[in-house]
Amino acid sequence: MAAKLLLSLAICRLIITVGLILGPSDLFRLGFDHPHLSLDESDLESASRDFGLMSRARPLAVFRPGSAEDVAAVIRASFESPRGGFPVSAMGHAHSIDGQAHAANGVVIRMGEGGVGGPAVSEEGRYVDAWGGELWIDVLRRTLEHGLSPKSWTDYLYLSVGGTLSNAGISGQAFNHGPQISNVLELDVVTGKGDILTCSEEKDSRLFHAVLGGLGQFGIITRARIALEPAPQRVRWVRVLYSNFTSFTRDQERLISLHGRPATEKFDYVEGFVIVNQGLINNWRSSFFSPRNPVKISSLGASGDGVLYCLEVTMNYDDSAADSIDQKVEDLLKDLDFIPTTVFTTDLPYIDFLDRVHKAELKLRAKNLWEVSHPWLNLFVPKSRIADFDGGVFKGILGNKTSGPILIYPTNRDKWDRESSVVMPDEDVFYLVALLRSALEDGDETQTLDYLTNQNQRILEFCRKQGIPVKQYLPHYTTTEEWRDHFGEKWERFRENKMEYDPRRILSTGQRIFETRL
Ligand code: FAD
Repeated sequence: MAAKLLLSLAICRLIITVGLILGPSDLFRLGFDHPHLSLDESDLESASRDFGLMSRARPLAVFRPGSAEDVAAVIRASFESPRGGFPVSAMGHAHSIDGQAHAANGVVIRMGEGGVGGPAVSEEGRYVDAWGGELWIDVLRRTLEHGLSPKSWTDYLYLSVGGTLSNAGISGQAFNHGPQISNVLELDVVTGKGDILTCSEEKDSRLFHAVLGGLGQFGIITRARIALEPAPQRVRWVRVLYSNFTSFTRDQERLISLHGRPATEKFDYVEGFVIVNQGLINNWRSSFFSPRNPVKISSLGASGDGVLYCLEVTMNYDDSAADSIDQKVEDLLKDLDFIPTTVFTTDLPYIDFLDRVHKAELKLRAKNLWEVSHPWLNLFVPKSRIADFDGGVFKGILGNKTSGPILIYPTNRDKWDRESSVVMPDEDVFYLVALLRSALEDGDETQTLDYLTNQNQRILEFCRKQGIPVKQYLPHYTTTEEWRDHFGEKWERFRENKMEYDPRRILSTGQRIFETRL
């Protein structure tokens, strides 16, 4: 009884305060006694934030769908509203940096919290059907029960299927299999008109390509059919160090050029990271190096600028091939030009390797260092300019402190579907450079949010002045002009797709791509 009274009071307050934006008729169309709609203060508060912890935008309501039809009901309520609709954003795991999943004065659909049935595996078809809000870790656990696994990953698995497919989803397997968006067979999408459509390469391919890497602009992914392969049992994980950038990138590029070779003649995963002079290799992603036996940079002959580069590779194998794994790894390492004394090897079950960043998360959480601001900057840098980027950024702008891991690894563009909405540099090979920094207000000045945000701007400005045609991954812009520039020749098609699939500009307004009248 008391709960009902509170809910009624909250509704009255909402209707009075929001008045013209989300009208009472819109809300009643959603059905206020709908068990999936919440006006609860803690729900509104949590949907106002994201992993970046740098922006806030309060929705008017939070919705937890139990089906695609539920998602469609919310979108239709907005699309058919005589007042012009209200913003609707799918929120997967809210691991965006700059409020991309927010819906200021609208409805946030918490895709992962509605209790939709788990992933369904087809062993014969070698695919899994996953709800859009499903976390990749749960997709993996389910497919492993069938001895199968998706092929392409992100480094961290507590991200939703719909969230990563709206960007690209990349990790060290992308050189071989392409990003996650290259491994999708079919999608169910609820468009901005409230239509529930099934699309694929063969059926309604325009919508299919638009949605993949589409930043949530054209529809909400409610189901993704993801290609699977036999899951390996174990992973041999190797890190080697370089003081010479040219040798480092030459070896990385050589390794990814082997993508067409049989599985035993190439690595399954190729990544790398930069170690700016911090004395010890000690960022949160490098727990691989034993804390009891830290690696001292000075002992490795780093160049005068003190920058080292770590190549990270893995080879998957089954217990039946355990006898030959040492030899296979050695055969591939022998042609590489790393510092000979710096081979660090570990071996672990496949799921533990894929879920490695979660372990780092738990450590940071224990120290209260996970829920801090994250002024991350992710860039695609064309191969032809990566050395200029190294000189100006790693050995220049960053100084000798990084405040977090800096990933760098190349990928093959021909593994990316050119028809998808994602934007990448116009070269056969391009690098992901990910500056994954955490801001600490009580640290020294170089760790504050202001300092790191300013440094990100300096990096972008450096690239602009030097004519390095970088593209932001997980892009963040605030004006239509900047977005037009980001999309380049893809802009017109992106805009036309918006007019076709979300003509009232209801969806994912937190991306701030299109001016909205809402
Ligand atoms: P959200 O932040 O909830 O949403 C992101 C965008 O997608 C929003 O615009 C939202 O409206 C839209 N969206 C969400 N769900 C749907 C849906 N079902 N249908 C349509 N649109 C939807 N990325 C990589 O590629 N590789 C990595 O290795 C990687 N590692 C990461 C590690 C960490 C610790 C973090 C925080 C992020 C990492 N990311 C990585 C970035 C991550 O892929 C994106 O931020 C992704 O959007 C997060 O997924 P999410 O479920 O939290 O999405």
